Amino acid sequence: MPEGHTLHRLAKLHHKRFAGGVVRVSSPQGRFADGAALVDGHVLVRAEAWGKHLLHHYDSGLVVHVHLGLYGTFTESAGPLGDPVGQVRMRMIGGGRTAEAYGTDLRGPTACEVLHDPEVSALTARLGPDPLRRNADPDRAWERIRRSSRPLGALLMDQAVVAGVGNVYRAELLFRHGISPQRRGRDLTADEWDELWADLVELMRVGVRRGKIVVVRREHDRGAPSYADGKPRTYVYRRAGEPCRICGSTVLHSVLEGRNLFWCPTCQPG
Ligand SMILES: [Zn+2]
Repeated sequence: MPEGHTLHRLAKLHHKRFAGGVVRVSSPQGRFADGAALVDGHVLVRAEAWGKHLLHHYDSGLVVHVHLGLYGTFTESAGPLGDPVGQVRMRMIGGGRTAEAYGTDLRGPTACEVLHDPEVSALTARLGPDPLRRNADPDRAWERIRRSSRPLGALLMDQAVVAGVGNVYRAELLFRHGISPQRRGRDLTADEWDELWADLVELMRVGVRRGKIVVVRREHDRGAPSYADGKPRTYVYRRAGEPCRICGSTVLHSVLEGRNLFWCPTCQPG
């Protein structure tokens, strides 16, 4: 599933390409036809991301909300789009403030819907602080974590605690700080949380800048290859059974709240 950095990149791109101009919005597949008709021909004011949610704000006050879920993708195009291929839920064509014509096709999202302001407020109120948003308040997350008996591995994935973190950042962040994903929230110290948050902000900003997850420090980037061609090199994520890059212990795997979890039992004791 795309993590927050992917959504923030998309928001930046859509803002750059479409904001400030009229956008033609359609639903070649038909499932978003009613929603598309509500915003078609309006000016996109801005695009932004909140965690894993993408929001397109139109001058009418309406907002298109997209959540990619597991399978959703945007296909971007600089220049005219051809006939829609496959199940295109939403097609956008516009040029923003430029004379260019850009397009994008959205396929397979979990959510693609038109929201009114109160619904947008309700959506963002349900989300924890997003490390990639300016003014994100890590104390809001801390207030939940420090009272919780749930494991940190679960808390970090809970979008109501921290918005935008997915399975890769969760596993890698905890590894980088030597913290067991099984440790309970209430057993984390305030200093540890400050360090986790600061690192998360930095790592996710790198993710936005580079368009991929980069978490392995250069001095550790040796030994066993990453889990697949073109995928991020990781310390533990999808490296079950391989030796830890730092201590050589076998990286472990289990399932926590329905999601795959990876950690090094030596570097992350407890
Ligand atoms: Zn280790």
